[in-house]
Amino acid sequence: MKKTAVALVLGTLLIASCGRATLRGVTPSAGALRAHAVDPVPMTETLSPNFNERGDAPISCIVLHHTAVAATAQSTANFFADPKSKVSAHFVVDRDGSVIRCVADDKRAWHAGKSAFNGVNDVNTFSLGIEIANVGDNVEPYPEAQVTSVVKLVAYLAKSHDIPMANVTRHRDVALPAGRKTDTSDNFDHKYVIKAAQALIDGTTLPRYTFKPAPEGYDARRQVYTVKPGDTWEGIADGVFDAESMASQIIRMNLGAKLTPGAHLRLPSTY
Ligand SMILES: [Zn+2]
Repeated sequence: MKKTAVALVLGTLLIASCGRATLRGVTPSAGALRAHAVDPVPMTETLSPNFNERGDAPISCIVLHHTAVAATAQSTANFFADPKSKVSAHFVVDRDGSVIRCVADDKRAWHAGKSAFNGVNDVNTFSLGIEIANVGDNVEPYPEAQVTSVVKLVAYLAKSHDIPMANVTRHRDVALPAGRKTDTSDNFDHKYVIKAAQALIDGTTLPRYTFKPAPEGYDARRQVYTVKPGDTWEGIADGVFDAESMASQIIRMNLGAKLTPGAHLRLPSTY
């Protein structure tokens, strides 16, 4: 059913209920409508000053990221709240499924950097950015509670802004030059998120999520980066963390290290 049709039916029901038209008054009939409704996602707010105006471009795209740290979503939101970090996203989803809003939908958050989607440059201008708490090493699992929240959030945003599922993309697919970014990691089931969010919008049964556990003894806090030819400290910080401002921290953790291709660097697990 189209939005206008829903509004019309709801309007008729509200008028029919007469007197003070409350939602409670139309519960029996509205129940049928709600089967196709996508509920808002509960969230807290830690607002970031790192945004600007979008201009005239309508919101037409959702970009998924991983945070690249073992730290919590709140820690990432606090990093975004620091003007010195010069980065942000609209939402951060924690491992337990809790969601934090950092930038209002109608503002341009700073998450995608140099980027293009379907040939249009500057993805930040027309997208919403969702950060998913995960170190992004292709091993740390994405818990079901977290993925379910991502699905609900994507469905809600897609419905609210009329964004087709084909425009729910990953940072790695839009970053320029190609290969600059790896998020979301290989073990993030992007196809599942799209399928499940569409099912939520359509009111059909959600597909089952397959959880892939980490190997025994795995520690998400011990991340290592292998230096590639041509790497710079700022490039590594941008590539891993979406934030050049993390470069000084990587240098501090690897005092005296040189950027020799093949060399291993320790990476911070928090900001
Ligand atoms: Zn990213």
